[in-house]
Amino acid sequence: SELGPEQHGLITTHYGTQIDVEPLDQPGTRYRCHIRANLPALVTGDHVVWRAGADFTGVVVASLPRKSLLSRPDSRGQLKPVAANIDYIVIVVAPRPTPYANLIDRYLVAAELTDIEPVILLNKTDLLTKEPELEAPLTNMLKIYSDIGYQVLQASTALDHGLDQLTSLLDAHTSVFVGQSGVGKSSLVNMLLPDVEAKVGDLSVASGKGTHTTTAATLFHFPTGGKLIDSPGIREFALWPMDRFTLAQGFKEFREVLGLCKFRDCQHEQEPGCALRQAVTDEKIHPNRMASFKHIAQSLDDGDSY
Ligand code: GDP
Ligand code: ZN
Repeated sequence: SELGPEQHGLITTHYGTQIDVEPLDQPGTRYRCHIRANLPALVTGDHVVWRAGADFTGVVVASLPRKSLLSRPDSRGQLKPVAANIDYIVIVVAPRPTPYANLIDRYLVAAELTDIEPVILLNKTDLLTKEPELEAPLTNMLKIYSDIGYQVLQASTALDHGLDQLTSLLDAHTSVFVGQSGVGKSSLVNMLLPDVEAKVGDLSVASGKGTHTTTAATLFHFPTGGKLIDSPGIREFALWPMDRFTLAQGFKEFREVLGLCKFRDCQHEQEPGCALRQAVTDEKIHPNRMASFKHIAQSLDDGDSY
């Protein structure tokens, strides 16, 4: 009836059959929208065509193409989309808790296979002053990733250190933070989003129609520029089941040698003429990455997703 003209908008969160849309020229303003029945599943971060109604309501009439899509396996291992148009997956690690084996590689594989650029962030660097013996192993591990070509940043929310470098990276991009519990993701979000009343962790989102409790992915604006999509599910984002061939493609530096193995279906284990094992021997591929590939392949064969 009283709908405004069609315009482009950004989905900032969704609650069942309703979603919040923000006009592209009014960041932070939210319109609670219904979705036209014939549309494909929409997720936070999607760009849409919509029409405003009265009292910050509206109707979404069309979806627009996505640049990237982040999905998570549900309890049955089925991939479900959670957020769209993400530029960076920021993999947060810390001296404590000690990163569990292959953690970074699992996130990197997930990022590579979804075409989202991963960035590794070592947080809580202040802990290295108290436990200096932790520094050398961490530095050696992180060097493997910077040698491959990944960006590696350092920060400490406790010391307010390194955050400028992080915010300038995140500026003009849409990011998610992932990493094991205790590495400081909430602390980072609270530092970077000082004025947002509804942060993940509170899980309550104020709206004109009262307070909703949600675990849905929600989009926030950093005051310094750039956007964050956050939810408990995204933070605990895990690798989904996949075959060895796909897994190997997720190891960026493996790609150029993968086609060179003698056998087309090479498992890169004991086969003669394995170009991947040769590349390790030739020190073109780091042995830790090869070991990590085998370890993850084995755990996926065993049916684990962690
Ligand atoms: P999350 O589980 O990844 O969201 O981690 P939290 O943000 O809840 O942080 C876990 C613990 O680490 C809390 O006790 C924080 O106070 C602490 N923490 C967060 N950032 C830092 C930091 O830069 N240095 C130190 N020493 N502790 C931190
Ligand atoms: Zn091989």
